[in-house]
Amino acid sequence: MSSEPSIFTRILQREIPATIVAETDNVFAIKDIAPQAPVHLLVIPKTQHYRDVTELAAADPALMQEMVAVAQQLANEHADGHFRLIFNTGSNAGQTVFHVHAHVLAGELTEKSMG
Ligand code: 5GP
Repeated sequence: MSSEPSIFTRILQREIPATIVAETDNVFAIKDIAPQAPVHLLVIPKTQHYRDVTELAAADPALMQEMVAVAQQLANEHADGHFRLIFNTGSNAGQTVFHVHAHVLAGELTEKSMG
């Protein structure tokens, strides 16, 4: 784990502005700054301890479960309850922020978001 706060930690600490759409004790969610679908939200653990979903799932499945539940809740609120949940894992797969986060995509997807 890096000791530098990630961009998402800085958003959580309100150092960088973002639209926060959900918050629980362990997880928060924001609107993606560069949406790839009509609904494009990020569900993020408050801890930046896990760099990607493989670390998270191995170490804290309950936190992973909470992220999925928050994603479903957001899809219910912002779309028709149907959604894609994407974890880019590794830089060659498009991961740019190494503080694990789930992309919640709903609505008509763009070509770019389909990969
Ligand atoms: P990754 O590429 O790591 O899977 O996803 C990182 C996501 O974070 C990208 O979709 C990018 O648009 C989003 N992002 C990066 N910086 C910011 C920011 O400052 N604010 C918000 N709201 N989203 C950001």
